[in-house]
Amino acid sequence: MNNKKIIIANWKMNPQTTEEVLRLIKGILAQRLPTNVEIIIAPPFVYLDLVKKNCGKEIKLAAQNVGWAERGAYTGEISALMLKNTGCDYVIVGHSERRHKMGETDEMINLKLKEVLKVGLAPVLAVGEKEQNGDIVKMLTQQIKSALKGINISDISRLIIAYEPVWAIGTGLSDTPDHALSAALLIRKIVGGLYGSQWAADLPVLYGGSVSEVNAIDFITQNGISGALVGSASLELSSFIKIIKAAGTNE
Ligand code: PEP
Repeated sequence: MNNKKIIIANWKMNPQTTEEVLRLIKGILAQRLPTNVEIIIAPPFVYLDLVKKNCGKEIKLAAQNVGWAERGAYTGEISALMLKNTGCDYVIVGHSERRHKMGETDEMINLKLKEVLKVGLAPVLAVGEKEQNGDIVKMLTQQIKSALKGINISDISRLIIAYEPVWAIGTGLSDTPDHALSAALLIRKIVGGLYGSQWAADLPVLYGGSVSEVNAIDFITQNGISGALVGSASLELSSFIKIIKAAGTNE
């Protein structure tokens, strides 16, 4: 997996109909897709099964969120094992919209990561500073250390981290490729301090925040950036296809 670029479509609370879900999936599959790109769709929970049944081998499935408990009396929650049994391979954990709009805490994110890893899914841990020009060293160190607290190196081989500056998400204001690259290197340094630099060198680190068909190539082709987490542009079929093809440029 590490040699492939990774493109994740985060559909958020969209689209509103199953017809539109199928239009997007079939539109992607109708393309000649690069084989050196891992294409992952993260639809709302209610569409996971539909996407799984229609996504072929070319597209992998991710959940946008997961409950932090294993099972039981947690009305409205979805467990990691349910996601695995529905055919997910990945789960986004700690997206800023969940942290800031739904009150998700560092402690919950740590519990969610542990649940996801326990059932054998790959977590995509989202981290990022709230304000432009914010202190990324302080913020990323705190978010990463608290998310990975108590997790052994033997349990995290599937971890992916997405650097997503909050001010760049859904705003049309993307980060600069240079700054995103320095944040990706910083993330590897922080993780390297916990688990060793050799391990951190292989950790996939993605960029997310207003990635578009125009700017995607500038982020994805950076050596230290392993791909992109794409929100609104992933709902525009032609844009998303261009982003996938940009990621496969070196094929
Ligand atoms: C996201 O949802 O993680 C995201 C980066 O959204 P957008 O691409 O719309 O900024």
